[in-house]
Amino acid sequence: MSFPVISSRQKHSMAGSIVDFKNLSSEGQNNYLRALESFPGQAIVDFSALVKNMRLMRSRFAPAQVMGIVKANAYGHGLIPSCLAAIKAGCTWIGVAKAQEALAIRRGGINREMCRVLAWLANCVWSPYEEMIEADIDVALGSMDEIRAVAAAAKKSGKRARVHIVVDTGFSRNGFLPEKFEDALSFLKKLVEEGRLKVVGIMSHFSSADLLDSESEKYTDFQLHNFSDFVKKAEKFGFKDLLKHISNSASSFSRPFSRFDMVRPGNSFYGYAADYSLGSPQDFGLTPALTLEAQLAKVKDVEGERSVSYGRTYKTGGKTSLAIVPLGYADGILRTAGGSNTGEEKIGAPVRILSSAGPKIARACGKVCMDQFMIDLGSPAEELGIMEGDTVRLFGAGCGESEAEPTADDWARRAENISYVIYTNLSLKIPRLYLNAKKELQEKELSLLNPECVLS
Ligand SMILES: *Cc1c(COP(=O)(O)O)cnc(C)c1O
Repeated sequence: MSFPVISSRQKHSMAGSIVDFKNLSSEGQNNYLRALESFPGQAIVDFSALVKNMRLMRSRFAPAQVMGIVKANAYGHGLIPSCLAAIKAGCTWIGVAKAQEALAIRRGGINREMCRVLAWLANCVWSPYEEMIEADIDVALGSMDEIRAVAAAAKKSGKRARVHIVVDTGFSRNGFLPEKFEDALSFLKKLVEEGRLKVVGIMSHFSSADLLDSESEKYTDFQLHNFSDFVKKAEKFGFKDLLKHISNSASSFSRPFSRFDMVRPGNSFYGYAADYSLGSPQDFGLTPALTLEAQLAKVKDVEGERSVSYGRTYKTGGKTSLAIVPLGYADGILRTAGGSNTGEEKIGAPVRILSSAGPKIARACGKVCMDQFMIDLGSPAEELGIMEGDTVRLFGAGCGESEAEPTADDWARRAENISYVIYTNLSLKIPRLYLNAKKELQEKELSLLNPECVLS
């Protein structure tokens, strides 16, 4: 493949990107150009950041094992690439919510030798339990109907199903309540004796581990206490060496006692604390892996007071320029992320632009539209050296100090939300591109990635 020829305007556009175009291979350059032509926004994932985050957690949480949580397309980061990054960092367990995601992992070439896979959200009527058993996927059981369905599927396939018992310690989502638990245990015991099931683990989930007030702390203690009671009961029924797991990102960092045999961090794998109130990524030694960029659609000079977007919640003042970022709520950008200055004052989400004097933050202004939102550049575009087509960064790894490079936490703060939602919402229309995949992966694993997504 030969190196593409790019115009000076294209070069200008690329200057604001995290992608170091001139140092990519010709394949990487062609992939990047194809992505720019196919959609006006890109989600660029740093493979090395994912690997580093997982390595940090593995060493911090040892001797507990770490299950990498990759539900919801790995919080928007891409399912198979994120699994490969977790495995590269030594993870031997991968967790998802839905049965179909677990099957997609196996279909994507991640086999039993590479890792165990657990799915905890299925239903007894439609879920492909037989296929899951065949694919060596662990199933989390949370109802009597589900136990029956999985046992029937195991009988059909002639293989023991590997299961984890879900217990409701206070979340009121999946899992058995204490009053129904003994029925479940005796039923499970019978099915184990009949050779249908192998009970591998017992699990639950915290509701408030990311909250710091004392009521929440007490509630987490209460859930831990309940979990121990469930475990004791299971032991009485002869389930002695179960893998015990309850901990998410927040509790894994803050509560060593919650780690048990295995922890299940999701958000911190992608580089963020569970909530920005707990600290910045840097405070935890984490590196946000995803950078969201877009190419400005229009840039125009305005003077005086001009209302911006639906509902006229923002007005410009003086001489400035407005620019359009071509991503909107149909692409997963929260409608509430824009700033307002007409009624209630609200600061908009930050966008990093590259002015002729260096990086500068412009803010989303007015309501986010379906396909686009506006930013107020604060000065005339020409003075700043900003042009239509320029690449801007909505969020990325950040720098920990000011908002010179925004993170998804900054977006969460401005849209009154959590970082999880910021990247999980990103539409599949936005191309996912990977940096440092070639550095981190062997040829064999690299072949499981869509080659068009690999930049370096
Ligand atoms: C999402 C999820 C996790 C991971 O939670 P984080 O807060 O992202 O670390 C762990 N376990 C279960 C059951 C989950 O649903």
